[in-house]
Amino acid sequence: MAKLHLITYGCQMNEYDSERVAGLLRERQYELTDEVAEADVVLVNTCAIREKAEDKVFSKLGELKRLKAGKPEMIIGVMGCMAQLHQETILRRAPQVDLVFGSPAIARVGELVERARRHERPLLETGEAPLVKITAKPPSTERLKAFVTVMEGCEKHCTFCVVPRTRGRERSHPPAAIVAEVEELVAGGCREVTLLGQTVNAYGRDLTPPTDLAELFARVNDVAGLERIRFTTSNPYNLTPPLIAAMRDVPKVCEWFHLPLQSGSDRMLERMNRGYTRARYLDLIAALRDVEPAMAFSTDIIVGFPGETEADFAETVEVIEQVGYDNVFVFRYSRRPGAPAADMPEQVSDDVKADRNRRLLEVVERVTGARSARLAGRTMEVLVDGVSRRNPGELAGRTRCNRVVNFDGQGQVAVGDIVEVRVTDALPHSLRGTLATPEEAVCWSK
Ligand code: SAM
Repeated sequence: MAKLHLITYGCQMNEYDSERVAGLLRERQYELTDEVAEADVVLVNTCAIREKAEDKVFSKLGELKRLKAGKPEMIIGVMGCMAQLHQETILRRAPQVDLVFGSPAIARVGELVERARRHERPLLETGEAPLVKITAKPPSTERLKAFVTVMEGCEKHCTFCVVPRTRGRERSHPPAAIVAEVEELVAGGCREVTLLGQTVNAYGRDLTPPTDLAELFARVNDVAGLERIRFTTSNPYNLTPPLIAAMRDVPKVCEWFHLPLQSGSDRMLERMNRGYTRARYLDLIAALRDVEPAMAFSTDIIVGFPGETEADFAETVEVIEQVGYDNVFVFRYSRRPGAPAADMPEQVSDDVKADRNRRLLEVVERVTGARSARLAGRTMEVLVDGVSRRNPGELAGRTRCNRVVNFDGQGQVAVGDIVEVRVTDALPHSLRGTLATPEEAVCWSK
């Protein structure tokens, strides 16, 4: 058997793609290795969302070049978003690379690697291809939680973003194929799935007949043995009343919603081409809290978008405080060549971006800490997923609202169990608790 080493950068969708690649290559007698020096084939799955992500890839390719100098037959391949966007640059800056292919070509990875190994290189495959649901199983199918890609691409054209250029237009997988994948995962021991799409709540519009994420929830909910459904990433623009109702009506859908805000300033939202206002966003949060008061929210924020003033920034701070998020991912705006915002006037200096980033993180720490504090004393449903990272004598799991909980329970419950835990300490980034007694196990959150 030949040996494959996979290096994955970026989002959950890349993790999912890497698993498919490992599955497809296993069918061609490639076995995964953690040791890069042992590998016959090294594939780097890349992210292009920010400049820093791209820098990391080039530095990794530099390391691989040194390795290949002592092992010339080793194949180095670059896949994913950078491959799609920068194929020529990759081959110019990193001539040690033998193979470059974009996400549409993943289904053909076996053939591409074989061709590269037969000295057909450098090999470039970055064109469009029909959407296929890859059925090859990843090498390790036994796991508690899994990602399931339900659609590819994005058509939102936010002015900061490269995704529409790296992953193409929106294409949804048919519900039956998704349900079949979930059934197979559950048969292998999986209890929680996260449905993935760049704009996952635009799911199904392109299918015949059209469908939507709410209908998909209902079908996935029917898979016996599955306990929890999560989904990411949603765009406020496509958040419809049926989806809001499904958050209440579909029992396995968890009370956690990742809803990127990007900015609390209407002026910035308009320049970003987000398609909603601050007021509309807040209405959506209110509607979701209305159907499910226990709903936890997380979001993405960009600081230092071109033209952002102190007043715009202050509006973002206001919304973060008003919503009371459980988690906030803060990004400094990164100028992406080809994305419209790269050419906008009033680019913000790195110093100002760094300063806003630091100040916003302080706000986030305070807001998420306060949300966490509310949970002290509550009894919550936890899916046990392993041993606590901090204390090997304790177990760890997640609540439905996606909080990490460490708790005593070794010997009493097992990984994969769903248990009730009473929260004794609400720390800013995790909860501590103890297994609830039957009287305490009247769950606060469903
Ligand atoms: N499709 C989702 C949406 O638009 O709501 C988000 C997907 S994106 C992979 C994850 C996050 O990266 C975005 O929500 C945004 O906050 C951030 N991001 C995207 N482009 C960026 C850029 N040029 N600079 C900084 N952050 C960026």
